[in-house]
Amino acid sequence: MNILVVAEMQLGKLKPSNRASIRMAQDLAKKDGDSFSMVLLGHQLGDAANELNRFGAKKLFVIDAPEFEHYLAKPLTDAVSNLAREHGFDRIVGCEATTARDFFPRLAGALDAGMCRGVSALCEVNGETCYQRAVFSGMALRTERIHTPIHVMTVDPTTMDDPTEGGAGEVVAFDAGVTVGDEIRFVELRRAKSERPDLSVADRVVGAGRGIKSAEYLETIGALADKLGAAVGATRAVVDAGWLPNEFQVGQTGKAIAPKLYFAIGISGAVQHAAGIRGAKTIVAINKDAEAPIFKIADIGIVADLFDVVPQLIEGL
Ligand SMILES: Cc1cc2nc3c(=O)[nH]c(=O)nc-3n(C[C@H](O)[C@H](O)[C@H](O)COP(=O)(O)OP(=O)(O)OC[C@H]3O[C@@H](n4cnc5c(N)ncnc54)[C@H](O)[C@@H]3O)c2cc1C
Repeated sequence: MNILVVAEMQLGKLKPSNRASIRMAQDLAKKDGDSFSMVLLGHQLGDAANELNRFGAKKLFVIDAPEFEHYLAKPLTDAVSNLAREHGFDRIVGCEATTARDFFPRLAGALDAGMCRGVSALCEVNGETCYQRAVFSGMALRTERIHTPIHVMTVDPTTMDDPTEGGAGEVVAFDAGVTVGDEIRFVELRRAKSERPDLSVADRVVGAGRGIKSAEYLETIGALADKLGAAVGATRAVVDAGWLPNEFQVGQTGKAIAPKLYFAIGISGAVQHAAGIRGAKTIVAINKDAEAPIFKIADIGIVADLFDVVPQLIEGL
């Protein structure tokens, strides 16, 4: 096996989710006594390569060119597939997130490879390495086998352990020979401005559901989040009501998160929401309905009116 991790940058920094891909590559390599390599693409990468090069990879390929300053699926796909062909990589690993969801299927197409997405664990069936992933909003685990010589996969960052530290690999500058044509160009990236931690990677998250009744109450939810140093998340009901923009949505069609602490406030705990918080270590639920499904997955359940409990929490913290 010749394993390659595709490491991604975001706004000039390494994405924290790269750690999950590296861990999967380490697990794959350990299984067959192989090594793994990584590729980092971007522009004016600064210290990013050094920061990445401490997990025992054999080689770190660096593709540093203006074409990769902003995310564009086509040049990225072309560059990684050129590298994979030239160096014979047959296991390509990335992390299941917005950009990889976009370009990994293209990569699989370019390399004529089978692909598994959202892999949470490796297993063996009849002596062959297979991939497990959660399906039906985490209600079931499916085992998948790839039949093509090249395997392309994204991993579920909420289920992976941290990678182990190791030595630095040989750094190799790779000329991907890719240019951005007229068919596609980067126009603009609009980001919600927030002083709070990034929801995708925050250690603590306060999640708001329809039970908060109005957008105005988000101010109180925000006050609790600030006391906890937490990010704010929301259910789809809150987003659909227009109380918060899309990027706050947690769940099957929103973000999958794995905080150490998740407060579910006025959230029923529908399977589509629960799918996004499977990786949370401790879930505290506040709901006035003792039968609400959220209590089935909560570690601490408070059956009460949130409008009484949340102000008390803010005062007590
Ligand atoms: C294809 C598909 C994809 C979906 N994807 C997502 C997704 O990614 N994320 C997501 O969240 N949802 C998703 N949904 C929607 C999901 O099914 C639920 O409708 C949604 O999660 C419900 O949001 P909620 O818990 O805020 O609202 P509700 O289900 O209305 O629950 C509100 C809760 O607040 C409680 N409550 C009310 N007042 C109080 C009070 N004063 N004090 C305490 N508790 C109170 C109620 O008892 C209730 O349990 C998806 C649905 C579909 C069909």
